[in-house]
Amino acid sequence: MTKCDKCSKDSIILIRYSGAHLCASHFCEFVEKRVKCELRRQLKLKGGERIAVAVSGGKDSTVALNLMSTILGSRKGTEICAITVDEGISGYRESSIPMVAENCRILGVRHVVVSFEELYGVTMDEIAGSNRNLATCSYCGVLRRAAMNRVAKRENADYIATGLNLDDTAQSILMNFSRGDVERLARLGPHKRIQAGLVPRVQPLRLIPESETTLYSIVKKLKYHDLECPYAPEALRNTYRSVILDLEMKYPGTRHSILKSYDEILPTLQEMYPPSRLRSCECGEPTMSEKCKACELLDSLKVSSQT
Ligand code: SF4
Repeated sequence: MTKCDKCSKDSIILIRYSGAHLCASHFCEFVEKRVKCELRRQLKLKGGERIAVAVSGGKDSTVALNLMSTILGSRKGTEICAITVDEGISGYRESSIPMVAENCRILGVRHVVVSFEELYGVTMDEIAGSNRNLATCSYCGVLRRAAMNRVAKRENADYIATGLNLDDTAQSILMNFSRGDVERLARLGPHKRIQAGLVPRVQPLRLIPESETTLYSIVKKLKYHDLECPYAPEALRNTYRSVILDLEMKYPGTRHSILKSYDEILPTLQEMYPPSRLRSCECGEPTMSEKCKACELLDSLKVSSQT
């Protein structure tokens, strides 16, 4: 059995991009150190802030909630709460919500659940079954982001923390490059620019690969929901996931390099696309045009169901 590089215990992981062998406790320390460093970089805490963690119940958001609660929950004056959006996907979301509620109970964190049905009067299952023009996930992603922003504001949150890991981030960067959507690239979180009506997002797991969030949740014995969403196979992101994993397998460190390159060009992108003046949509959410994207998509469903 290979030994840990830092002590005499057995190693549980070879970190391929650095060549390090780590035991369970040094692996957890390695994860926690990078998360603390990212939180210091992304958050400007003066005391009295409330941070809403977007928790679906999957492993990444469960790890994010646990780390945020452990690292910041004990900080005087900082409050952590959890928000779960129930998209209305039968056989999937019903089982994850009680799991999040139990994790929040253990951590002593307030848990708020909001559903698409309550906010928009429609479930994801109804949207998936409707006469629509876009992939299911395109509706879900936009509506969920808008729902999270709306509820975070209702909860007086200063930040929304998400469970996006290194793989997710590298996929988003590559997807936007491939589509030529440079403006959206300039707006990917974490958000340093505060815009009225938009709760800034922080990404504590931005430097942690998905395989490490999985191992961390196993070592820490965290309970998470590991069912796959029935609509996930349709997602365009899957193609980018396999391309990036393939590159990482052949050239360890590729995901970190994608992120590093992105971070280096980000100031230039942000100069090219300064924050737009936002107005208020009829639903109350901020928008660059007359209607916000969520309302536009919901309207398109009404139109296509009439045609
Ligand atoms: Fe929504 Fe798509 Fe994720 Fe399912 S896989 S929860 S439909 S974004």
